[in-house]
Amino acid sequence: MTSLTVDRPTTFDVHSPATGTVVGTYPSHDELAVEAAVDRAHGAATWWRTAGFAERARRLDRWRAEITRGRDELADLVHAEMGKPRSDAKLEIVMALEHLKWAARHAEKVLGPRSVTPSLLTLNHACRVEYRPFGVVGVIGPWNYPVFTPLSSISFALAAGNTVVFKPSEYSTGVGVWLADAFARAVPEHPVLQVVTGGGDTGAALCRSRVGKIGFTGSTETGKRVLAACAQRLTPVLMECGGKDALIVDADADLRAAADAALWGGMSNAGQTCLGVERVYVHTDVYDAFLTELLDQTRELRAGSGDAKIGPITMPKQLEVIRRHIDDAIARGGRALLGGLDAIEGQFVQPTILVDVPEDSAAVTEETFGPTLVVTRVATMDEAVERVNDSDYGLGATVFARRHGQAIADRIESGGTSINAFVAHATIPTLPLGGVGASGFGRVHGPDGLREFTYAKATTRQRFPSPLALTTFTRSAAIDSAVDRLVSVLHGRIG
Ligand code: NAD
Repeated sequence: MTSLTVDRPTTFDVHSPATGTVVGTYPSHDELAVEAAVDRAHGAATWWRTAGFAERARRLDRWRAEITRGRDELADLVHAEMGKPRSDAKLEIVMALEHLKWAARHAEKVLGPRSVTPSLLTLNHACRVEYRPFGVVGVIGPWNYPVFTPLSSISFALAAGNTVVFKPSEYSTGVGVWLADAFARAVPEHPVLQVVTGGGDTGAALCRSRVGKIGFTGSTETGKRVLAACAQRLTPVLMECGGKDALIVDADADLRAAADAALWGGMSNAGQTCLGVERVYVHTDVYDAFLTELLDQTRELRAGSGDAKIGPITMPKQLEVIRRHIDDAIARGGRALLGGLDAIEGQFVQPTILVDVPEDSAAVTEETFGPTLVVTRVATMDEAVERVNDSDYGLGATVFARRHGQAIADRIESGGTSINAFVAHATIPTLPLGGVGASGFGRVHGPDGLREFTYAKATTRQRFPSPLALTTFTRSAAIDSAVDRLVSVLHGRIG
C-alpha cells in the first residue's frame, strides 16, 4: 500500500539500534491510506465473522504454524530492529504462540451464546447472552516486545471474529509487516489482518477512523492522546500503558531466587519491559544478604552487541531519561553499587544498581526503561506494600516470600502479581493481563482478553404471557397490589 499524498515524506527508515545501519524502509501511511485499509477491513469483516469459531480457529492455527516455521527469521528481524538478543526474541515468540493457541481454542466457549436464568418477575422469558465482535479493531503496538505485545491484542481480536488493522511501532515495523505477511499465507482470501506503517501520525489517523475499538499498547503519555482522539467518535479503547513495577523480598524469601528474578526482571531486554522490575523493596533482616547475592549474580552480566545477554537501548531519546534518573538519584544521596552514570556507553547501558535513593526521586517514581534497579531497605512488609502502592502506575508486581506471599500479594494494587517468580502471570494463557491507574485499563489474555474485543449482546424470547403483565397500559389495580405484596416478600425482609 502506498500513501496518496505527495507533499510530505512518504517513507521512513528503521535503524539498527546497535549499529545505526538502516534495516528497512517503509511507507508513511497518511489519513487516506489508513481509511482505505479500514474500509477494506470492513469489507472482510462479514466473511471473517460468519466463518465461525471453528473455521477461525483452523486459520489461526495455520498462522501459528507459519510463525513457528519462520521463527528464526522473525527472531533475526526482532534482533535487527530493536536489538534484543536472538534467543530472547525466540522466547518472546514462544510466549506469543501460547496465547494465540489459547485464544483460538477457547473463543467459542468464552464468547458463544449461552442461556442465563431470568428473575422471578420475568420467569416467562428465555434469556441468552453472547459476545459479538466489533467488526474492525485497530491495534497500535510498541517496539519493546514487537511480537508478544501486539499479538496479545491481535490474536484475541481475531479469535473473537474481528478483522484487524495493525499499526506497529516505527522502531519495529518490519516485524509487524512480517506477521501480517505470515497471516496472509494462512488466510489468503480476504484482508483480515492488515498493517499500516508510520509514526504517531499514522496511529492518530487509525484512532480517528471507523474502527470499532482501539487496542493500544505504549506509553502512558501517548495513551492519553489516543484516548482523546478516540473520544471524538466515542470509540472504546483498551489501554496497556507503562509501569514502575516492584519486587518485594520478605525476610524468609529464597534470596538466590529473588536476586535472580530481580536481575532478569530488571535487566533483561535492557530493562525495556513494561512489567520490568524497576524497584526492589527488601526486608531489613535480609537486605545485606540480598544485595550481596544480587551483586554476585550481576557481575558477569554485560550489555553489548552480538551475543551479549543485554542488547542496546532501542530509542536514542530514552538514553537521556536513563541518564537523568541516575543523575538525579545520585545527586540526592543515592549510591551506585554497580554501574551509574559511567554505565552509559553510546547506545548501551551497563547494569546499574542504586541504593539509598529517596522515594520521591525520578528513579523511583517515573518509568526508567533501562537496566537499572533501585534497591530499598524496608522495616516491615507493611512498609513494602505501602511503598509499592504509592505509585501512579499499577501494572504488575512480584513477591518473594515463603509464608506470607499470598497475603502480601493480596494487598498490592496492580493488574497482576506473581509470587516467587517474575511476572509469571503474563505468560499464563488463562490469566488476564493489564493495569490500573496510569498503567491503563482493559485486559488482554484469557477469557477477559477475548471479551475485551467484543460487546455483550442480550436476547430474550417471551415463552408465554406473564400472569403479571407489568409493561402495558392495560395493567390493572389488582396487578399493582399483587406486585406490591410480592415486592415486600422479595426485597423488604432484609435486616
Ligand atoms: P509510544 O507510546 O511511544 O508508542 C506506542 C505506539 O503509539 C507506537 O506505535 C507509536 O507510533 C504510536 N503513537 C505515537 N503517537 C501516537 C498518537 N498520537 N496516536 C496514536 N498512536 C500514536 O511507546 P513505545 O515507546 O513504543 O513503547 C514503550 C512503552 O510501552 C512503555 O511505556 C511501556 O511500558 C509500554 N508498554 C506497555 C505494555 C503493557 O502491556 N502495559 C507492553 C509493552 C509496552
